[in-house]
Amino acid sequence: MYDVIIIGAGVVGCALARKLSQYNGAIAVLDAAEDVADGASKANSGIVHAGFDAKPGTKKAYYNVRGANMYAQLAKELGVPYNPIGALVLGFSEEDRATLNKLLEQGKQNGVKELRVIERDEILKLEPNTNPDVVCALFAPTSAVVSPYEMTLALSYHAAQNGVEFIFNSPVSKVYEEHDTWHVETPQGVLEARAIVNCAGVGAADLHNQISDQPLQIIPRRGEYYLLDSTVKCPFTRTMFQVPGKMGKGVLISPTAHGNALLGPSAEDIEDGTDTRTTRQGLDFVLDKCRLTWPKVNTRPVITTFSGVRAHPATDDFIIGPVHGAPDNAFEAIGIESPGLSAAPAIAEELGEMVAEHLKLPSARFVRAAVPLLKPFAAMSEEERKEACKRDANYGRIVCRCEVVTEAEIRDAIRRPVGAKSIDGVKRRTRAGMGRCQGGFCSPRVMEILCEELHCSPLDITKCGGESKLLVGTLNEIAKEGRRHE
Ligand SMILES: Cc1cc2nc3c(=O)[nH]c(=O)nc-3n(C[C@H](O)[C@H](O)[C@H](O)COP(=O)(O)OP(=O)(O)OC[C@H]3O[C@@H](n4cnc5c(N)ncnc54)[C@H](O)[C@@H]3O)c2cc1C
Repeated sequence: MYDVIIIGAGVVGCALARKLSQYNGAIAVLDAAEDVADGASKANSGIVHAGFDAKPGTKKAYYNVRGANMYAQLAKELGVPYNPIGALVLGFSEEDRATLNKLLEQGKQNGVKELRVIERDEILKLEPNTNPDVVCALFAPTSAVVSPYEMTLALSYHAAQNGVEFIFNSPVSKVYEEHDTWHVETPQGVLEARAIVNCAGVGAADLHNQISDQPLQIIPRRGEYYLLDSTVKCPFTRTMFQVPGKMGKGVLISPTAHGNALLGPSAEDIEDGTDTRTTRQGLDFVLDKCRLTWPKVNTRPVITTFSGVRAHPATDDFIIGPVHGAPDNAFEAIGIESPGLSAAPAIAEELGEMVAEHLKLPSARFVRAAVPLLKPFAAMSEEERKEACKRDANYGRIVCRCEVVTEAEIRDAIRRPVGAKSIDGVKRRTRAGMGRCQGGFCSPRVMEILCEELHCSPLDITKCGGESKLLVGTLNEIAKEGRRHE
């Protein structure tokens, strides 16, 4: 019997788990996937939005600005890559100027600091690669970039350090209340808790509609991206937006927290929230839009494409708090589309306090401080590298040549609480496979290390859980099978 079961290990569920780990209570996080950050939290723009986009008075506006103000400190505490680079929203006509002025006013009402509209000369001085046809821009110096999956991972590590249990490969099919106890059905069995919190992203409406008297709809909205090689300098030092449209904030070009250039996203409503394919149409749309910001854009330095799916609520605002019309002690943070990454720390802070208060969970007498993410070998000085190799000889073995990731870092990523179990799990924790060869060289060695650490056969290793196995059999088996067919 848990005190709280959180359904969904995205940035919202993990931030909430971390907050609740500061109380005395048995907390579990369930996820359908085999790792944290498998939904929108791994595939987004990674922008900590300043907060001028959301309509004043909405939950999006409130939590965005509050969350963004918490980010610098949180990222420092957890050791997550975060860079306050600022952002420009470009306008190419007087009509765009009117929109930018509206955003400026909205931003001021939302409490965003240092916002101003700037003119062509200043834009070109700040960002010389901008299309010279630009007329004006909204300048938001408080906008930042963060590594979204590393933030989610770091939140989960800190929660686990303070006793939160993470249970993966557990898609929740049903939730119901009986005798003041919540029952959570998964293929492995039924778990019980005093309270549940639905943070299930695109899967959240199904669970909400089982228990609420106010059914709601979440529309999966896919966004596709190009990622450029980090060895090619990003043409911009800030995040470059265009004026937003009715489907969202539009297409941007931005350096990521790791220095690659990111181009996207598109916005397309789809049926299946797990459909993260990329399409010719979506990618062409991105490229076309990017040309307006950066006329010289081309696909030569592209190392990968990917997509993420937004959980767009039909009501157009975040839904946070007790589930309407449900029995007591059911809570939710759903419809958390953009700016949900920015808002997550603030959502967790308030929702966590609300849940703890309802359950009368006492504050924990001892809370472990976060162990910050390891400094990557790639970012160490020569002196630091020598020291690291002395401490652990595995620092002397480079596994991923593109991103300079060592065997020591890969082993640590697997051994940590909430450790990696798949090739993608290692990739998101260490960057092995994130470079220009996209794992072409290092995957076999990463697979070997996973087998050694997890004591399993290479045949069990997956790319990202489920059926995504990398090997189909041993050569002996395949040869025997072939002879039998002959
Ligand atoms: C293309 C795109 C760009 C974005 N850009 C930004 C940005 O720049 N800045 C910003 O602030 N925000 C951005 N966002 C929004 C941000 O990514 C999301 O708001 C945030 O990641 C939502 O986190 P979450 O934890 O609610 O959901 P998710 O990360 O989707 O996590 C939900 C989890 O629930 C699990 N789950 C679902 N159903 C079940 C079930 N039945 N049982 C068990 N587990 C289940 C899933 O496996 C998943 O792990 C963007 C989103 C997208 C898609």
